[in-house]
Amino acid sequence: MNENKKGTLYLVPTPIGNLEDMTYRAVRVLGEVDAIAAEDTRHTGILLKHFDISKPLISYHEHNKTEKGTAIIDMLLEGKDIACVSDAGMPAISDPGADLVAKAIDADLEVVPLPGPNAALTALIASNLDTKQFTFVGFLPKRGKHRNEVLQLMAKQTGTLLFYEAPHRLEEVLFDMYKVFGNRPITIARELTKKFQTFMRSDLASICKDVTQITYKGEFVLVVGGVETGTNTEVVTDEPISYEEEVTKLIAGGMAKKEAIREVAKRFGVSRRDVYNLVERQ
Ligand code: SAM
Repeated sequence: MNENKKGTLYLVPTPIGNLEDMTYRAVRVLGEVDAIAAEDTRHTGILLKHFDISKPLISYHEHNKTEKGTAIIDMLLEGKDIACVSDAGMPAISDPGADLVAKAIDADLEVVPLPGPNAALTALIASNLDTKQFTFVGFLPKRGKHRNEVLQLMAKQTGTLLFYEAPHRLEEVLFDMYKVFGNRPITIARELTKKFQTFMRSDLASICKDVTQITYKGEFVLVVGGVETGTNTEVVTDEPISYEEEVTKLIAGGMAKKEAIREVAKRFGVSRRDVYNLVERQ
């Protein structure tokens, strides 16, 4: 494929849901390289089959990236061309791949990125929020304390903020955002390019007041207005929502009172005793 003695590392984006989003060039490159480093070989195998491509697959993921990365660099140094693909979207964007790029550049190898699908940018362009300036945050830390630290840092950004989030953490992340950012416009983009694609264009206050509006299934990008860019940036200084109301809602949803108090205290970063006292005062 190339005339240098060393091989080339191709970064090949793959569809985030709709197979028609695979580019001609991506198909050609995958068909021409000597091997494909894939995050999930089974998943990539299905994609390759769809495009009638048969190539050796190398499993390269978060948990084996150190040793496999070295082996891939050795292959490149021997003159093999390798494509790196992630599960979906752009390799190296919240995906393994960045390490391989660093190693390849360190070894003075050529790295060729292909443009293509990416969930964050796909959500941004239809979000109706500022596209002139934005910050990609990706996944927030899983733990509350670290997550709040990152959110506090992001609260100062003037451009639009782009987050990835798993469905089971979505609700607590939305509450944390509301607590740290105050009210801001938000677009929740779900299942982009897929059959059940939806865009919820709203604000953090309205969403946190009724979290049952959201379908907690599928894949999500959260697009949040920056500190000065949104149309609705009123900052919440006191209790943004009533803890008593939140506890009542959770109880109505089938949660035991003690558990509901614990959950609300966790969401808003306050002590269980404070929530308990407010609930008991009713
Ligand atoms: N490399 C990918 C890219 O370029 O977008 C991102 C990979 S990251 C491991 C996976 C996360 O991206 C998901 O948890 C979700 O937040 C987001 N995502 C991926 N596909 C999506 C889709 N079709 N709709 C909405 N979000 C998506």
